[in-house]
Amino acid sequence: MYMLDFHHHTNHSFDSKAVMEDVCKNAITKGIKEICFTEHFSLNFQSPTNGHINLTNYFSDIKSCQEKFQDQLLIRKGLEICEPHLLKDLYCKTFEPLELDFILGSVHNINNRTLRETLEKKQLAGYKDYFQEVYEMVSIADIDVVAHLDLMKRYAYEEFGLYDFTEYREILEAILSKIIERNLGIEINTSGLRTSLNESLPSINIVKLYKELGGEILTVGSDSHSPDSVGSFIKEAIEMAKECGFTYVFSFDKRKAIPHKI
Ligand SMILES: [Zn+2]
Ligand SMILES: [Zn+2]
Repeated sequence: MYMLDFHHHTNHSFDSKAVMEDVCKNAITKGIKEICFTEHFSLNFQSPTNGHINLTNYFSDIKSCQEKFQDQLLIRKGLEICEPHLLKDLYCKTFEPLELDFILGSVHNINNRTLRETLEKKQLAGYKDYFQEVYEMVSIADIDVVAHLDLMKRYAYEEFGLYDFTEYREILEAILSKIIERNLGIEINTSGLRTSLNESLPSINIVKLYKELGGEILTVGSDSHSPDSVGSFIKEAIEMAKECGFTYVFSFDKRKAIPHKI
């Protein structure tokens, strides 16, 4: 099985202290052949992510890791963007010269409120606002793959509980259909399997529905924020993809999806 992990944060993200070389070394130790760094990036001044990353330093770190580990690991250059639909033109202009391999799109905030704050105000109705915002994002944003599609549950499950899949099926179908129509993809994000949430983001129901609707582009990512999480539950994510009927997972090169048989 071709092992790949397409979601990593290092000290170029505001919420990680991981050193890029350590991430690469751990990936190699775990038998992973291809990784993609996806540091947080936001052009919204009100986002906690804004202003942290220095893209020149980030790309130069990637380049030196690519040279250092060239015979052992394929290293891709990506970003994870907060709410890329809100400043779409500005993002497009910013990304054009960067030659990125991969762009993850995320909803981490709604109306400049964090998901946690949204829940405190709205309780379970916060899920509705969240999925609505994801729909807005997938309708127009210039991204490749939607990160952790049902992320709201990470903040909700302990205090407010999980969402009921059947209750949100209509909006989820609309989101996934739009993703397929625009030739975007989704990821199986394994970070929830490392916590008491104990499930992937999104949950298997959504991955199955994506397949039923004709979805093909699927990536797998640990969302590692420390080197020891690199590759965690990736085998399980690939098994889940198979169980849902997928025969390929994808990597990205210069924003072009490349299939790998599973
Ligand atoms: Zn994220
Ligand atoms: Zn992430």
